[in-house]
Amino acid sequence: MKTLQLKGAIKKLLLLCLALFIAAAAWLYLNEESTRRLKQEAEIRTMDVIGKAAAKRLGGENAGVTHGSAVELIKRPIEIRGVTDNIHYATGVGNTVMITTGDGVVVFDTGLVIQSASQLRLLKETVSSGPVRYIILSHSHADHIGGTRFWAEENTQIVAHTQFEEEQRYLSELEPYQYGRNRILFPWMPSWEERPALKIMRYGGIQPTRTVDSWEVYSFDLGDTEFQVIGAPGAEGADNVVMWLPQQKVLIVGDFFGPQFPQFPNIFTMRGEKVRKPVEYIKSLNMLIELEPEVIIPGHLDPTVGAAQIRAGMERIRDAVQFVHDETIAGMNAGKSVEELMLEIQLPPHLELAQNHGRVDWAVRSIWDYYMGWFRFESTTELYPVPAREVYADLAATAGSESLLALSRNYLSRGEPVKALHIVEVVTASEPRNKTALSQRKEALQILLQRANEGTRNDYEIYWLKNQLDRTNHMKLEVFPGGNE
Ligand SMILES: [Zn+2]
Repeated sequence: MKTLQLKGAIKKLLLLCLALFIAAAAWLYLNEESTRRLKQEAEIRTMDVIGKAAAKRLGGENAGVTHGSAVELIKRPIEIRGVTDNIHYATGVGNTVMITTGDGVVVFDTGLVIQSASQLRLLKETVSSGPVRYIILSHSHADHIGGTRFWAEENTQIVAHTQFEEEQRYLSELEPYQYGRNRILFPWMPSWEERPALKIMRYGGIQPTRTVDSWEVYSFDLGDTEFQVIGAPGAEGADNVVMWLPQQKVLIVGDFFGPQFPQFPNIFTMRGEKVRKPVEYIKSLNMLIELEPEVIIPGHLDPTVGAAQIRAGMERIRDAVQFVHDETIAGMNAGKSVEELMLEIQLPPHLELAQNHGRVDWAVRSIWDYYMGWFRFESTTELYPVPAREVYADLAATAGSESLLALSRNYLSRGEPVKALHIVEVVTASEPRNKTALSQRKEALQILLQRANEGTRNDYEIYWLKNQLDRTNHMKLEVFPGGNE
C-alpha cells in the first residue's frame, strides 16, 4: 500500500516537473522570439530614418520618372505597383517583389539597404502584413539583398543559389576596394569614411536556408500558388536565380536581363567583378525561353508584358551572345589580337540590341580573358611588374614634351582621341599639371563622350568619361585659379 502511494507521489512529481519544464521552455522561447521581434522593429525604424535622410540628401525623393541609368535609379520614388492581383512590387534602386497567397507571402529580393525599410513598410501596409514564408534572393549584389534581415521572420525560408555565399564572401572581402570603384560610377554614394557604419547596414552575412544549384528547379506550393526557383547562372554573377509562377506565366528575374529588356547583357561590368560566363548564360536563357513567360518582372525598372515580345527578345539576346562568343573564338583561332576583335565584331542587323548596359566590344575582351587569362603572348614585358608607364617620364624627357604634344595634337585633329590620350599620359607622367597636356586630355575626353552619347550611349562609359573630365577640370583649377584654359 505504502509502495503504491509512493509510486503515485513520484509520478505526480515527475508530471509536475515535466509541466514546469515545458512552461519554462515555452516562456524562454516566446521571450526570445519577442525580444528578436522588438529588436528587428527597432532596426527597421532606424533604417527608415537613415533611408529618408539619404533620400533627402540626394534630392531624389520626388524626382519623377527616369529612363533607367544607374545614377538615375536612386531618384526613382519608392511606391507600390501591382502586376496581377497577387503580385506587387515596391520600386526603388532595386525592386522588392511580394507575392501574396492564402498562406502568407513570398518576397523576391529585398532592395538596397537604405531603401529597404520604406519598401517593407509600404508593402506590409498596402499589400499584405501576412507571415513571410519565403525570401528568394536573385543574387548577392547589395541592391538586391539589403533588407533581408528586416524581412526575415522566425521561420522564413531564405532561398538562394548554391554559389550565393561564395559570391557574398568575395564581395565582402573586397568591399573597401570595390567601394571606391563603385563610387566613381555611382557618385551619389557617400565616401567610405562618411558612410553610416551601422552593423545593420553592413553588406553580407546572409545565410540561405535552402540553396538551388545551377539549372536546378526547386518547386514549392504556398496557399494555392505554385512557385519554382530556378538556378540561372551566367548573368550578373555565378549565383543568379529566377522565380517562375507557372499558373500565371510570370517570370521574376532579378538582374538576369539587366535593367531594360531586351538589351545586350553585362558580360563584363566596369565596376569590376569575376568574369561572367556567356556559355552558362546561353544555357540558362534556353531554359527560360522554354517556359514561355508572358510577363517579366526585372530587378530594376518596370515589367515587360507580352509572350511574343518576350520570346523574341530572349531569342535575340541568346543569339547575340552566341554570335559574339563564337566570333571571338573564331578570331582567336585565326590569330587575331583582342583589339582587332574588339573593333571587328559587331552585331549583325537582325541581332541589334541596346548596349547602354553591356557592350559588345567589352564582352569580346571579357570572353578572351575568361578563356586565356591575362598573358596575351604579345610582349615579354607582360610577365613582369614593370608597366610601360614606368618609363613614360624618361621617354618624355628624351623626346621633349613639346614635340610629344604636337604629336597628340595631330592625333586629335585626325579624330584619334585614344592615341592622343596615350601621348598625353607620357607627358603628364613627368609634368602632371602641364597646361597643354591637360587641355588636350580634356579635348580627347570630350570627343569620346560625344561619341558615346551619339553611339551606344553606354551608361558606364559615360559615367567614367564624365568622372575623368571632372578630375581634369579640377586639376586645372588647382593650378590655374580663375581660368578654364
Ligand atoms: Zn541590380
